[in-house]
Amino acid sequence: MKPYRDFSDFLRGHFDGKVQKITVNAGFTCPNRDGSKGRGGCTYCNNQSFNPGYCRPSLSVREQLERGKEFFARKYPQMKYLAYFQAYTNTHSDDIDRLMALYREALDVDGVAGLIIGTRPDCMPQDLLDRLAGLREWVMVEYGAESACDRTLELVNRCHTWADTVDAVNRTHAAGLPCGLHLIMGLPGEDEATMLETVDCINELPVDTVKFHQLQLVRGTRMASDVEAGLYDIPRFTAEEYISLCVRILDRLRKDIAVERFVSQSPSDLLIYPRWGLKNYQFTNLLHNRLAEARNII
Ligand code: SF4
Repeated sequence: MKPYRDFSDFLRGHFDGKVQKITVNAGFTCPNRDGSKGRGGCTYCNNQSFNPGYCRPSLSVREQLERGKEFFARKYPQMKYLAYFQAYTNTHSDDIDRLMALYREALDVDGVAGLIIGTRPDCMPQDLLDRLAGLREWVMVEYGAESACDRTLELVNRCHTWADTVDAVNRTHAAGLPCGLHLIMGLPGEDEATMLETVDCINELPVDTVKFHQLQLVRGTRMASDVEAGLYDIPRFTAEEYISLCVRILDRLRKDIAVERFVSQSPSDLLIYPRWGLKNYQFTNLLHNRLAEARNII
């Protein structure tokens, strides 16, 4: 018995057989940096990833997917793929026809069975949602919500509110599309009670999946220089403490919501904190062991 519903359980409800996500960088930028939503970006976001060269992928969407497929196709010839538009804000354009052409390019690649589109909750115009809902292929939208606490969102310069997330999720669900949220645990000013309140707020929404990750303090960010200057500090957890928090999150989270992950890893040369020395799968194993002990299911 699995200790919680995970992303593969969610995918099994939508597809027969093996499905693999392939990440695509379609050359989008960020509205929280170019002035259309805000300037300066979120305080934890690394400027170094915003050099123009990085934002302009040299391979087309099709080429990226074909290359991604090569890796899996030999081992699993029947595998289906989801094109995951992950980098930056993948709906950030006033030109909806251009957006749809990029998504279509992905969907027309042999073996691609659907799309996952990552974006901000304040960047999903209804016209685009309607066009996505009109596609015959499977489409999911993933929103970077980060926290349900507006004070936190303001403090980290997200330039959107929780109300934007509520609105985007409700409209996405009403359009008939599966919807995921991305959340950060350990943002400045938040304690465990605030983080668990975010979980309660998620439970109120028609959300299908969530991704949690620990706040990472990364070199070159405004947050790193603020913390270094002593302007404020961030909540700090040992790996054990973070695992305990994840257990409490799972106790609280609605059971039909699938959890895709609890941790992510920035490159070691950029990461200031936390340096737990655990790979994602090692963290997941520790969490599963802890859950098994707590729930006595082994
Ligand atoms: S975290 Fe996302 S929304 Fe914030 S500045 Fe970075 S790319 Fe933009």
